[in-house]
Amino acid sequence: MSLPTSRRHFLQLAGTGLVVAGTGLPPLATAQRAPATVGAASAHPGPALLNFNECPYGPAPAAQQAARDSIAASGRYRFELAGQLRDLFAAQEQVPAERVRLYPGSSEPLNRAATLWTGPQAAVVVADPTFEALGDLAATRGAQVQRVPLRGDGGHDVRAMVAAAHARPTGLIYICNPNNPTGSVTLPADLAWLLANKPDATRVLVDEAYLQYSTQPSLIGQAAQRDDVIVLRTFSKLYGMAGLRMGVATAHPDRLRELASLGDNPLPVPAMAAALASLRDPQLVAQRRQQNAQVRQATIAWLGKRGFSSVPSEANCFVVDVQRDGTAFAQAMAAEGVVIGRSWAIWPQRVRVTVGTEEEMARFRGAFAKVAGVPA
Ligand code: PLP
Repeated sequence: MSLPTSRRHFLQLAGTGLVVAGTGLPPLATAQRAPATVGAASAHPGPALLNFNECPYGPAPAAQQAARDSIAASGRYRFELAGQLRDLFAAQEQVPAERVRLYPGSSEPLNRAATLWTGPQAAVVVADPTFEALGDLAATRGAQVQRVPLRGDGGHDVRAMVAAAHARPTGLIYICNPNNPTGSVTLPADLAWLLANKPDATRVLVDEAYLQYSTQPSLIGQAAQRDDVIVLRTFSKLYGMAGLRMGVATAHPDRLRELASLGDNPLPVPAMAAALASLRDPQLVAQRRQQNAQVRQATIAWLGKRGFSSVPSEANCFVVDVQRDGTAFAQAMAAEGVVIGRSWAIWPQRVRVTVGTEEEMARFRGAFAKVAGVPA
C-alpha cells in the first residue's frame, strides 16, 4: 500500500518517539534513536517541531562560539568553569553563592527532589495540568500525588493546594511558574500567600524553567532567605541549550547538600562555556522574550479569530482548545508535517503548542487551518 507523503512522514516521526505522549520529553530509548537531522535548527527541511518547548533559535551566537572554543580543553573536568558560572549566576540573581548548585539541566534536581522528599509518607501537591516529571517520579516511589486543577485564569489555585498539603503529610508542593503546558502565570501575591500558609514541614519546589519569557518576578529571593524553598532554573528554554544541558538549583545550603547526597555528576564543559557566554550577553533575555511574545501573541490572535481559545500564556508554549479529541488532532497535524505537543487527561480537547519561529508558525497556521477546516 502506498501512503501519502505526509502520512509516511508521520509514521516516521512516530518511529522516532517524537509523537509519543509522556512528560513532555521523549522516552529515552526512542529519543536516542531520533535521526540526527531532525531539529528546528537543522539546515535540512523537515517537520516543524513544536512539541517539546525547545527554543528554535538554539544557543546564542556567542554561546555557540564559546562552546566550540571549549572543546579542545574538554579533556579536563574544568571545575573552575563551574565555579565561575555559579558565581556569575549568584551575583546576577543576588543570592549567596553557597545557595547555588549547578546541574546538567533542571531535570536532575527535579528528580532528586522527588526521590528525596516524597514517598509513601510524604505526598506531593501539583497543579493540573502541569509538567508531570516530578509527580510521575513521586508516584513510582509510592507517594500520593494530589492534583489540583488550575484556576480559570491559568494561575495555580494556591488555596486549594495549601489545603491539600494540610490534609495529609506532604513533602513537596510543586509550583511551575510560568506553568507548562499553559504558559500561564501565578501572581506574586498568591505565591506569598502559599509560602505564608503552607505546612511548616512541606517544602516548595518552584520550577522557573520559563521565567525569562515572562515579566513575572522570580521567587529566587525566597530561596536566598528561607530553608524550605527550592528554585530551579534551566538553560534549556530561552537560552536554547536543551541539548547542551545546564541547570541551576537555588536553596538553603542544607537543601543543596541533601540534593547532592544522591551523588555527584560533573558538568559538560561546552555547556558551562555556553551558559557563561549566555549570562554575559546583556541583550539576550530581553530580545528573545520580545521575539517569543510577538510570535506567540500573533498565533494566539489568529487562533482566537477562528474561534479557538487559549489560556493566557507568558512562555514559549500555550494550550489551545481544539474542540475535538486533542490526541487525534495532534496526529493529524503531524501528518501535515507540524508536530505539536500533547493533551493532558484533565483537558482531552486541548493541545500544547510550542512557539516556534515566524516561519514555523506560518506552517502551523497552514496545517491547523487544514486539519480544523477553517480559513487559513
Ligand atoms: N521543568 C519544566 C517545567 C520543563 O518544561 C522542563 C522541560 O521541558 C524541565 C523542567 C526539564 O528541562 P531540562 O532538564 O532540560 O532543564
